[in-house]
Amino acid sequence: MSAMSDEALLRYSRQIMLEAIDIEGQERLLASHALVVGAGGLGSPVALYLAAAGVGRLSIADADTVELSNLQRQIAHGMADLGHSKAASAREAAQELNPGCRIEALTQHLDGEAMEAAVADADLVLDCTDRFSSRYAINAACRRAGVPLVSGAAIRFSGQLAVFDPRDPDCPCYACLYPPDDLGDEALSCAESGVVAPLVGLIGCFQALEAVKLLSGAGTPHRGLSTFDGLHGQWRHFQVPRDPACVVCGNAGKADG
Ligand SMILES: [Zn+2]
Repeated sequence: MSAMSDEALLRYSRQIMLEAIDIEGQERLLASHALVVGAGGLGSPVALYLAAAGVGRLSIADADTVELSNLQRQIAHGMADLGHSKAASAREAAQELNPGCRIEALTQHLDGEAMEAAVADADLVLDCTDRFSSRYAINAACRRAGVPLVSGAAIRFSGQLAVFDPRDPDCPCYACLYPPDDLGDEALSCAESGVVAPLVGLIGCFQALEAVKLLSGAGTPHRGLSTFDGLHGQWRHFQVPRDPACVVCGNAGKADG
């Protein structure tokens, strides 16, 4: 017997009828807490889909306010949200989709102890930020807390997706893939580059899909790094080995990145 109400059984019926999710998987989703860092182009579809899919608790972190130039791709926000907190605006949009989801907006910049606490409190973290400093901080906090991380990025016509699960001893971390020392000027100017609107939706949806799988127990998590070239419609998949010398997860390293 399920503890779900008739309304919930109906609301989630199209997922419950999937063998890989079933009622047990839906109940695991409803009992889960996901932290979404960034409520912009990636975070908008992530927050909306996770709320709609029935993730029971969402924390949405973003210290920025909504600007007109965001509306081209950050679909959780509308004209009425201009000048308002992105985290609060995304919470409102997700709450409208699913009043049963418990959603918290974190409107301060997430770093230091607040980052550690927010990550440790979550079952899964979605990195929807566009700054490398944030990406490294999120990765290190996930590593320390043993919380899986679903990472997405989108720039111009290109996107990428990776899942880092510290519970798997063979799984690399974000810093294995992108050693901090390797960062060039191009990487650091990512926030100033353009991006085509649906690309962030595409990558955000892949992040949401991986989150639903990990939280419900369906299928097998994405492995390695996938990149998508939107101009030519091509996916590429790369294996990413764990780096024994990684400053975050390596044998000699310590997770203080
Ligand atoms: Zn690593």
